[in-house]
Amino acid sequence: MIVNVLDKKKSILNKFIAEIRDAEIQKDSMRFRRNIERIGEVLAYELSQSLDFENETVTTPLGTTIVKVPKKDIVLCSILRAGLPLHNGLLNYFDEAENGFISAYRKHINEDEFEIVVEYFASPNLDDKILILADPMLATGQSIVSVYEGLKKHGAPKEIHLACVIGSVEGIEYVKNHFPENTKLWIGTVDDKLNDKGYIVPGLGDAGDLSFGYKLSK
Ligand code: URA
Repeated sequence: MIVNVLDKKKSILNKFIAEIRDAEIQKDSMRFRRNIERIGEVLAYELSQSLDFENETVTTPLGTTIVKVPKKDIVLCSILRAGLPLHNGLLNYFDEAENGFISAYRKHINEDEFEIVVEYFASPNLDDKILILADPMLATGQSIVSVYEGLKKHGAPKEIHLACVIGSVEGIEYVKNHFPENTKLWIGTVDDKLNDKGYIVPGLGDAGDLSFGYKLSK
């Protein structure tokens, strides 16, 4: 698996990441969602450079020209609910992509232990498609791997891109061991630690709650 950590090079992305992490700025949920969306747009731009392109003939008012454009075989799948703003950002750029939505949540066994429950799948066929799987927080890596296992019944993609905002070293190691070779990870930044509840430290907190408000836990 190829891992691309995008904050290694300096860009405006770092500003968006700083704002979603900032305990004061992140209280503005509209700004938080918009920053995640903007990060989705940056991830889309970066990963677009690794796609297969084809020639398209474009007719302008004055003549014709050939433009290299990405092939139209992308399926964008996101994990509910935290993935929604990231999905929007990716879709702003890959506006012709097919779309899939999968629900995954942490079902707590006790205070510190949980299992991932994957329930709802709405996905097109994935055979020979480019699958972009979006999950903002790559903490333990278990959610994105469980979702991928479930998606296998929808077909075999020709390549897989994981689009994430913040990851942990442990989560990246876990996905490396559970995704096929043809997978590329595109991630904004990586933190060293997870706490005993499986949250990324320093991370940003709960991306779903920050986007959409607190929920009752199952
Ligand atoms: N999900 C989140 O929203 N934040 C984390 O730190 C881990 C998982």
